[in-house]
Amino acid sequence: MKNLVTRVGPAFATIVMTVAAVVASVGITFFILDTFGNGVEPLVLMVAIVAPMTIAPVIGGMLIKLIHQINHLEEEQRHLACSDELTGLRSRRAFLENFELLREQAKRDGSILSVAIIDIDNFKSINDTYGHGGGDELLKSFAGILKKNLRKSDLVGRIGGEEFAMVFLHHDPEKAMKALEKVRIHTQKNVVDYLKQKIKCTISVGVVQWCSHELADVEVLMRQADESLYHAKKTGKNRVIKFDPSLKALQA
Ligand code: GH3
Ligand code: MG
Ligand code: MG
Repeated sequence: MKNLVTRVGPAFATIVMTVAAVVASVGITFFILDTFGNGVEPLVLMVAIVAPMTIAPVIGGMLIKLIHQINHLEEEQRHLACSDELTGLRSRRAFLENFELLREQAKRDGSILSVAIIDIDNFKSINDTYGHGGGDELLKSFAGILKKNLRKSDLVGRIGGEEFAMVFLHHDPEKAMKALEKVRIHTQKNVVDYLKQKIKCTISVGVVQWCSHELADVEVLMRQADESLYHAKKTGKNRVIKFDPSLKALQA
């Protein structure tokens, strides 16, 4: 029933229900005639035919409206699970699911994936200075910068409190590095007005690049991007650092 309403739409489903009710009522009427012969009052017969024709569209319409509302609520719930309420970006779960799909696409067409984890610098002290509301405004504004610097084929999500992630699908990996540097500079220049105060911030970015012939799954790539981010933080913040296996040795 639910699938029928979704597939054909509420108006058509109401017509289908009415026709079904009328066919059923005519069937029942013939059954009564067959069983009781002609002893049935013509008025009763009329009512038996006309009543379902008038009642079915009303009850059917109400039922279908209800089903439509349930469908709408389910759709909204799915959307909420996939997107971050504050910024409107993909949630961590939705980001990782889409990342897996992009990785498969890159494998098929031989393009290069650039995976970046972006963390806002000293965000705790921004919260401490301007309050949680100020921090939230900054997060929203930063999400706007990410959206502005995004192509249709790129992926972005909020994967933690003040942590974001991006995936770029490129044939020229330097383009992804340039896009991330642009995001870094844009963020540094951005000023957020909050309760007559001006909030500014910088970001640190860890990047790893992946070619389709390499063996690394989403989890490994996220870990490598995170290692680069750690290195960006350790070496002074406000920078974009590309993954280098020797970074691990430096960390140890
Ligand atoms: P670092 O430069 O090393 O990244 O330091 P940091 O202060 O940015 O990092 P830390 O992990 O110490 O602080 C992150 C803070 O982000 C702590 C947490 O209270 C805050 N936070 C997490 N989620 C939200 C949110 O949705 N809104 C706001 N306003 N703050 C959040
Ligand atoms: Mg963090
Ligand atoms: Mg931080």
